[in-house]
Amino acid sequence: MVTTAYKYNFPIILTGIFVIFIAVTVMTGWLLHLDAIQSLLPGHISMHFNSAICFILLSVALLLYVKYRNRGGHRLTGVLSLIVFLVGATTFSQKILHSDLGIDYLFFKNHNNPYYPGKMSPLTALCLAIMSISTFGISLNTNKYKTVCQFLFHFVSVVAFIVLIGYLYNVPSLYNLSYYTTMACHTAVALLLLSIAASLINPSLGITGIFTGKRMGNVMARRLFSQIVVAVLIIGYLRILSHRYHWLSADVGIAFLIVSFILVSLFLIWKKANILNKLEVNMEIAQENFRIGVESAPYALILSDETGRITQVNFQTEKLYGYTSEELIGKNIEMLIPKELHKHYRHDSESFFTSPAVVSLGIDDEVYANTKNGAWFPVEIVLTPITTQNGISVLASVTDVTSRKANEAIIKNQVKELQLKNQELEHFNYIASHDLQEPLRTVSNYIMLLEEDYPEQINDEIRMHLSTMNSAVSRMSQLVRSLLDFGRLGKNRKLSLTDCCSIITNVKADLNGLIKQTNAVITIVDDMPVLYAYETEMRQLFQNLINNAIKFTDKDTAPQINIGCKKTKGFYEFYVSDNGIGIDPKHFNDIFHIFQRLNKNEDYEGYGIGLANCRKIAEMHGGEIWVESELGKGSTFKFKILNFKA
Ligand code: ADP
Repeated sequence: MVTTAYKYNFPIILTGIFVIFIAVTVMTGWLLHLDAIQSLLPGHISMHFNSAICFILLSVALLLYVKYRNRGGHRLTGVLSLIVFLVGATTFSQKILHSDLGIDYLFFKNHNNPYYPGKMSPLTALCLAIMSISTFGISLNTNKYKTVCQFLFHFVSVVAFIVLIGYLYNVPSLYNLSYYTTMACHTAVALLLLSIAASLINPSLGITGIFTGKRMGNVMARRLFSQIVVAVLIIGYLRILSHRYHWLSADVGIAFLIVSFILVSLFLIWKKANILNKLEVNMEIAQENFRIGVESAPYALILSDETGRITQVNFQTEKLYGYTSEELIGKNIEMLIPKELHKHYRHDSESFFTSPAVVSLGIDDEVYANTKNGAWFPVEIVLTPITTQNGISVLASVTDVTSRKANEAIIKNQVKELQLKNQELEHFNYIASHDLQEPLRTVSNYIMLLEEDYPEQINDEIRMHLSTMNSAVSRMSQLVRSLLDFGRLGKNRKLSLTDCCSIITNVKADLNGLIKQTNAVITIVDDMPVLYAYETEMRQLFQNLINNAIKFTDKDTAPQINIGCKKTKGFYEFYVSDNGIGIDPKHFNDIFHIFQRLNKNEDYEGYGIGLANCRKIAEMHGGEIWVESELGKGSTFKFKILNFKA
């Protein structure tokens, strides 16, 4: 980004080069004795050789300053300025002392013409001395002299401008002190350009500041000034012509001059006033729209300054706190904060203004507001720093979170209750499973005792009944154990980086006997991911699905099992498909419930707990499990789990 000070570097450099060009041309004219080049305008007075040297030195001084200004300027700027000052001051002192110190003939000694090359105009000398001392002042880089220097540059600009007007209107008294001490026209141009360029080094100061600013007033000043200057120059010129050629008598001429000036000014002011009025209307509309937006905001908006003084509030603020805006504006914002929290607020406010940034309060901590009748209510506040002309203000948007906090409290209670119920349930599961094992063991022991103690009395029929009883008891015992395992599932889970491919390889190794016996072919179709998961539980999930896929196949069919995985948005989706007996769609949901079996135990052994475990494990990973199948056409079990990342 270009800062305002550096914005004008280019025109300053361009002016410096242009002035050097004029000066070098003039010096060439002197050296080659070419009058036309010295005076630039044929028949006009020449720029003095010393003036040309001074212009070069001054331009170089300015160019060096601009080039090295980010390093505080160049030392030569000061030195060159002082040299020019010496020349200017010495030349000017000749006029005051009525003496000739010979400085004008330092470079050109004339033998034929006593006036050759003439004397530098005292006015030029004065302007050069002022220009150079101001340039020196700038090179010191202290704010102290900047404004004074700026006005000295302006002084030179005004003098040069008056001289130029003299040339333009051909009024010699404006530039002619005595014939040989006249300021040349191109000297005036160089002085005007150089002084304006120098004033652009600190563009915000003095009159330059009025023309370089970005505000509406600056834009208007720029336009109005340029138009008035042009108008006045034209009117003035016409007045002089009318005088010179006796078109009008003096009084009529002056009257015309005044009337035309008033009319032109009126026209220009009327145009500018219209623009300003239009702008004001637009601004009022924008302000009104902004006010409506602020007023209709669904939360309280409070603007306060660094001292905590409230400067603006919206309708919601009045509604929330019970005060009218008149009661709030101008008061300290502490009136909206419970007294007990003032100390806390002062501390927060201090750190806010030390490093202003958007801050949210009341999300993780408890923040309260105070109504007019002294009641407290919980709030959430967003503090936004706003830079205004009077420093930093803070915009607080306040939301009443009473009902949300109440709901949160209800949810918190419910979660607590649920956790307690879960604990009770787990406890019950544990106790029940343990206690149920005991009578089962007793029944089993008594069957054993009966068989051992009464071998003669037990005939084959009784033995068969006892054996059926025994297997029912051990199945019951197994069911109770499965129930216990189901309750405990995931109790000691630990999230870790899990390689799914190695899990499946291990499961395959565990099921090796069954695989060989059934000639099952298990194929991993896709690349298996390495992901964060509960490894032990994931292994159990794959084992259950693969085991089922082998188990629920017709006896004379070799199981063909495919396993794959794809990454979806935020999840990993796995599948295990088989060419087994398939499942009727009406059972798609039931089979994931505990102890739900679709087949007789004689056909396919099992306890109906495997898929319930699978569902619990998938849910534990923030996912779900489902099946796609058709009777007799195989099944595809799919489950997805969250991509935990870390
Ligand atoms: P179990 O395998 O011990 O019977 P599961 O909970 O694992 O218990 O399965 C529940 C029921 O779902 C099974 O009894 C079976 O009827 C059906 N089932 C599970 N997997 C498959 C499969 N791959 N093909 C057909 N039916 C299946």
